[in-house]
Amino acid sequence: QPRILSKGGFSWTLPEERKEYRFLTANTNALRDLGLDPSQIEDEEFQQIVSGQFYNLNKDSFEKRGYPFPYAQTYAGWQFGQFAGQLGDGRVVNLFEIPKINPDNKNRPFYELQLKGAGKTPYARFADGKAVTRSSIREYIISEHLNSIGIPTTRALSLTFLPKTYAQRSWAEKCSIYTRFAESWIRLGTFDLHRWRGDRDGIKQLSKYVIEELFTVNGNRFSYFNNIIQLNPTFFDASKDDLGELTDYDKMYYEIIVRNAETAALWQTYGFLNGVLNTDNTSVLGLSLDFGPFSIMDKYNPNYTSNSEDHELRYSYSNTPTAIWWNLTRLGEDLAELIGAGENLLKDSDFLKGKLKEEWEDPIIKRATTIIEIGGEIYQYAFTKKYVESFLNRLGVSNTLIDYSNINTINEGLITPLLELLYKVQCDFNKFFVVLQEVREGDLTSDRLLEKLETIESRYTNAELKVEIDSWLKIYNDFLSKSTDISSTSSRNFNPLFLPRNWILDEVIKSIEESEAENLTLLQKLEKMSFNPFDKSKWGDEEKEKEKQWELQGDYSP
Ligand code: AMP
Ligand code: MG
Ligand code: MG
Repeated sequence: QPRILSKGGFSWTLPEERKEYRFLTANTNALRDLGLDPSQIEDEEFQQIVSGQFYNLNKDSFEKRGYPFPYAQTYAGWQFGQFAGQLGDGRVVNLFEIPKINPDNKNRPFYELQLKGAGKTPYARFADGKAVTRSSIREYIISEHLNSIGIPTTRALSLTFLPKTYAQRSWAEKCSIYTRFAESWIRLGTFDLHRWRGDRDGIKQLSKYVIEELFTVNGNRFSYFNNIIQLNPTFFDASKDDLGELTDYDKMYYEIIVRNAETAALWQTYGFLNGVLNTDNTSVLGLSLDFGPFSIMDKYNPNYTSNSEDHELRYSYSNTPTAIWWNLTRLGEDLAELIGAGENLLKDSDFLKGKLKEEWEDPIIKRATTIIEIGGEIYQYAFTKKYVESFLNRLGVSNTLIDYSNINTINEGLITPLLELLYKVQCDFNKFFVVLQEVREGDLTSDRLLEKLETIESRYTNAELKVEIDSWLKIYNDFLSKSTDISSTSSRNFNPLFLPRNWILDEVIKSIEESEAENLTLLQKLEKMSFNPFDKSKWGDEEKEKEKQWELQGDYSP
């Protein structure tokens, strides 16, 4: 029976026992960040822990200890615009927390380690608790790739193949278990769950946890929000007297907004699409999270969606910023009482006596509404700021040219025209930045650019494109000439030379499935290229032909 809770949000649970486990891989970036030595990969106990087998071998002792760990945490969510009730997490088990080796000043100094596909939890509803190998490989690769290009994301440590465990999907597929870690796995959907139940105290408790445990680092609170307020302190000018002092609940809401705005902006500048941006897949830390039908866009097309079932283009490239804001508005509603009334919450008894009416409607609702409205302005600002900074990094233009009191100037002057140009040229989105970087080192002309770009089925002739490119280059050269403080090669750190695109993932997954995970050559090559996308010297000496085929090559079939 699926367990529907009326209070709380987690249950102690152990991974399900599997007939056979075969450890496949763990990546060195993750091992390093968890303070583990790369040689650990060979360690039997390590392999048993990251596959969940350890918990079955030691089942008795866990049961005797009264299940202090592991546990599954549930949540609710708005899916494609509809509220779907309690729905997660039916196949993820949290193991334990690990202190960070290199903590920073902005993020929680711990990681929480999980197994995905470790079997049914009390929240599995009618599903099987399994993860197929295909989606496990996809998630393993993309999380670590996004991390390597500087996009906030949940992380991946290891993959374990389960040779005798099948899941019935369109056909019977072999399963895997995959280990992931993040500072926190709380989602907007975690708040949605408490609101749905009318658990007002639960929302308050959860908020306190998020404020104290996630957003307080070395005594500093809300670092992302404070950074935005320092750059642009005008958000509250018009309504200052109405709002009074901001509470920690207000600031928590804004911190979640800024973090998600920044991540969405980075997705846009790299053409990354999650494909299913429901509230249960939106992290309170602004981490990229839960990768299903994700994709990295090949040709630039604002209407591109990576989800073949997303007929309304809700989660398409150009709708991504709006989709995240829509989710954050639902969060504002979850928090309405807290941000409307602060610590002066109504008592449940007053709630029932109908006192609600007088005390809620005005001024509590009014304050909550204003806080959310200002949140929208903060979201736009934080998004645009990161978007402009990130595009300038990719273009080799100095961030010192940004006027933070007028964040749209460069956006409208340089970036919007660039995207219009890319839409006409129909070249590969990410390759454009690499080619521009190369051409810039010699004569930056439209002829040289066009020659290296390979336009794909553009509706324009080369002569027409030349005119368009020349006109953008004129603007661009002006920005470059003012960027005297940065070296011409610094954009190399922002323009990956390899991206794990769907057609490449498909090829690797096929090689794993067909060899029953005996032949790991292509998977290992993909790991090296995906996790070190700026540094070819780390791609290894094997499979050089494959490397050439994969490098910067999109799938341009219609
Ligand atoms: P998704 O739509 O993939 O984001 O999944 C939504 C929720 O459904 C997640 O919290 C999962 O835990 C749950 N779920 C998805 N697939 C399974 C499965 N095979 N077994 C149990 N739960 C699942
Ligand atoms: Mg999900
Ligand atoms: Mg999923």
